[in-house]
Amino acid sequence: MAFDIQVIGGGLAGSEAAWQLAEAGFRVRLSEMRGGGDRTPAHETERLAEMVCSNSFRSDDPEHNAVGLLHQEMRVLRSLVMTAADEHRVPAGSALAVDRELFSAKITRSIEQHPRIELVRERIDTLPHNPAIIATGPLTSPTLADAIAAETGLGALAFFDAIAPIVHRESINMDVAWMAARWDKGGKDYINCPLDQEQYEAFVSALLDGEKMPFHEWETDTPYFEGCMPIEVMASRGAETLRYGPMKPVGLDNPRTGRWPYAVVQLRQDNKFGTLWNMVGFQTKLKHGEQVRIFRTIPGLENADFARLGGIHRNSFINSPKLLDGELRLKSKPNIRFAGQITGCEGYVESAAVGLLAARFAAAELQGARLTAPPPETALGALLGHITGQANSETFQPMNVNFGLMPPVPGRWKSTSRKKAYTDRAREALQQWVSELADREAA
Ligand SMILES: Cc1cc2nc3c(=O)[nH]c(=O)nc-3n(C[C@H](O)[C@H](O)[C@H](O)COP(=O)(O)OP(=O)(O)OC[C@H]3O[C@@H](n4cnc5c(N)ncnc54)[C@H](O)[C@@H]3O)c2cc1C
Repeated sequence: MAFDIQVIGGGLAGSEAAWQLAEAGFRVRLSEMRGGGDRTPAHETERLAEMVCSNSFRSDDPEHNAVGLLHQEMRVLRSLVMTAADEHRVPAGSALAVDRELFSAKITRSIEQHPRIELVRERIDTLPHNPAIIATGPLTSPTLADAIAAETGLGALAFFDAIAPIVHRESINMDVAWMAARWDKGGKDYINCPLDQEQYEAFVSALLDGEKMPFHEWETDTPYFEGCMPIEVMASRGAETLRYGPMKPVGLDNPRTGRWPYAVVQLRQDNKFGTLWNMVGFQTKLKHGEQVRIFRTIPGLENADFARLGGIHRNSFINSPKLLDGELRLKSKPNIRFAGQITGCEGYVESAAVGLLAARFAAAELQGARLTAPPPETALGALLGHITGQANSETFQPMNVNFGLMPPVPGRWKSTSRKKAYTDRAREALQQWVSELADREAA
């Protein structure tokens, strides 16, 4: 099929971008290397928009949380990723978590069945000359990564991302563990495994002594991204660090004692059927055998059967504030846009959001028009601002969407009212932007 634009990479960002472009009336060639004889170190299937680690899109609260607000803005812009997520959500308190298989199957089906999208299972090794969006993600294939590095002259930056283990539900001892959410907020959606002081201290020292995966030569000196730090690295920062992080017991009354335990391990539902549970915050680079040995010392997980063990991977992203213009175009080759995690946003939702924006900018350009960027007060605008200008290119690091990326709301506020003030302002700004878009489309 002849095409108007090519999208390279069928992950969260590329699938969203292809969908948006096709819905705007353009013929899209979506090039995805999985299923064509290539793989990445983290993807396990050939499906589009595969979630490689957690099954959560994080908070779905649009009033007090920046990522919840981003969900809402993407829904307004008819995001395929949000439609699929809403359709296949699983219980997770106030968070939006999904059955990962049904979610990516829905995206794959929608793309395959779209009359204006041709999905081609091919690996791209060079920068295209036709209009294109590169959305090859944190695990971009090495040859294409080299081609990008050669064009930009800067090389790609890199950091580490780690995967948390997943446990079969039936192997969890519910005579010890119990279901609850912190402070009883939302439903009883988490499985909680309690540790007393002695068990906690033994666990921390086992983590510190456990054998870790060796680093590859090319991985040395690559810094961790703070939001995805391995559990043993957190443990090495101090005996109490985990009790104030992923093993925090506050607000979790153990029904068997009526008190908070000394520390707790939480597991969150990972699939629709509730058969798989993800160890929250337990990303790790311990060797697989060590993970099984050490995690089975957690009360309730004595006989844990692991569906997937933790792992660690390098992540690559470009120096977007330096290399991209305000419409996500590569300054040196403006026929190419970048989208997704490779631009230096962080997370599934943010990656899909940047895919959506890249596609909307490209669609306007193909129509011979120009799309004004979403206002910086919106979550979409704030994310775009971080990638394309606001951040210091010397210290640029991947970033989840957050209120700190938006212009401050003037005045003195209590924390929750301040968040609400941000989201109220964002909603108003988005509404205005969307109605301007509609007016322009109608003209
Ligand atoms: C190990 C790991 C764990 C992570 N855990 C989380 C998490 O728990 N929560 C979270 O929100 N985010 C997590 N992330 C970040 C996550 O990758 C992104 O949030 C999201 O998947 C990025 O979307 P993307 O579309 O940019 O890239 P991806 O979803 O990775 O999609 C990129 C696609 O491009 C394809 N591709 C690569 N090179 C080529 C080529 N040359 N030609 C054709 N196709 C190509 C790949 O096969 C892939 O399908 C994790 C990342 C990694 C690496």
